[in-house]
Amino acid sequence: MNKNDVLLGKIEDLTVEGEGVAKIDGMPFFIKDTVIGDEVKFVVTKLKKNYGYGRALEIITPSPDRVEPVCEHYKRCGGCTLQTMSYEAELRFKEKKVYNNLLRIGEIPADILDEAMEPILGCEKIYHYRNKAQFPFGTDKDGNPICGFYARRSHEIIANTDCALGMSINKTILETVLEFQKKYDVASYDEGSGKGIIRHVLIRSSKDETEHMVCVVINEDQLPKADVLVESLSSIEGVASISINVNKKNTNVILGDKTVTLWGKDTILDTIEGNDGTVLSFEISPQSFFQVNPTQTGKLYSIAQDYADLKGGESVWDLYCGIGTISLFMAKKAGSVIGVEIVDKAIEDAKENAKRNGLSNTEFLVGKAEEIAPELLKRGDAAHPEVVVVDPPRKGCDEGCLSAILTASPDRVVYVSCDSATLARDVKFLRANGYEIKRFRAVDQFSRGPHTEACVKMVRK
Ligand code: SAH
Repeated sequence: MNKNDVLLGKIEDLTVEGEGVAKIDGMPFFIKDTVIGDEVKFVVTKLKKNYGYGRALEIITPSPDRVEPVCEHYKRCGGCTLQTMSYEAELRFKEKKVYNNLLRIGEIPADILDEAMEPILGCEKIYHYRNKAQFPFGTDKDGNPICGFYARRSHEIIANTDCALGMSINKTILETVLEFQKKYDVASYDEGSGKGIIRHVLIRSSKDETEHMVCVVINEDQLPKADVLVESLSSIEGVASISINVNKKNTNVILGDKTVTLWGKDTILDTIEGNDGTVLSFEISPQSFFQVNPTQTGKLYSIAQDYADLKGGESVWDLYCGIGTISLFMAKKAGSVIGVEIVDKAIEDAKENAKRNGLSNTEFLVGKAEEIAPELLKRGDAAHPEVVVVDPPRKGCDEGCLSAILTASPDRVVYVSCDSATLARDVKFLRANGYEIKRFRAVDQFSRGPHTEACVKMVRK
């Protein structure tokens, strides 16, 4: 076999990123935009010792799971890479990914997993669900400002103001900014030269789409002709907050440290509704971490609440609490909740959110979970929580955090995770130290993309 060979294969499996896998003489080839069951003609684009990559040239026999993609940019865009797969197949893929990671990385026996597993919770709305989007701005080869999405594994911008995952208002807002740039000659930022002004536009929308926030990320202290842009953006129905964020660093990180509100409110108000009808409201600023799929978020938090099995008097730790969303869902049913989070602005918001929702049984502490949790162990009133909830970023929990949890020795640990590989690693650690997995469930928060959220309940043996 050589590079550029054209081969025929059948897709038998998917990688964790959702790329099709076909085996030729026992050697796996990874072929994107294919679906399990496709018979495909592909060209070998890269050949390694034990595996290779291919690009599909023709789908000879389509899989029964294959569907027409909804977006013309799907082949190049790095966003919703599972568009050619039916949603049922996507849910099977995600459920299996979580299960297999717990089995292989977590080394949890299959009989225990089969007993604990609950069916994946899919989305009702698989497109136009995202309440937040950050669009990179650039310039096309004719010198016109463009915005859209990065191509897969690159920083090339594909011009598209009408992404199928986002809210319909995004198009109007983005086109208003592009018009403004053309009219007043306000250039997009160029990563290569570091010149130009507009880097990104961040848009957030409330769940009912009545309030929208626009934050223009710029490479200068001020946006030229800002008043004109504010005038046109503020006339768009529902736009409630317009700000600039200053980011002059040569970095992939989108937001800089300084945000200035130019018009309207500093935050927008959103609600999360639990399965039992509980509605909690949250003020969200441009920098806040807030789950991107608001309908699914309510369901996810309700599962976490159910797994916590609260009767009323318990004390709870919510580590990696963000703006206190899970903490407040727990506080509704528990005796008291301590939330811990590294970003101090998020902790300020969490305190405000607790007040607004009338929940006085909460305390929020700023700092690293792995540093604050050991401190809590020294505090008589806080050292013995019945329940610990963790919801870490993709890299999972720090070992210092897990060790503190073991010392606190809660009856139950509820682990909310956006990366089932690190989840599995941490569950393995907790199982080796006296906890057993009792229930788990994947919850689709990011339909059409390969990532999946999961919730696990562990109980002290
Ligand atoms: N539970 C929240 C936030 C989850 S995202 C929600 O559902 O909205 C993970 C959070 O962990 C982020 O807010 C991030 O700022 C925070 N974080 C990252 N590393 C941390 C650490 N070492 N200690 C505490 N918080 C951390």
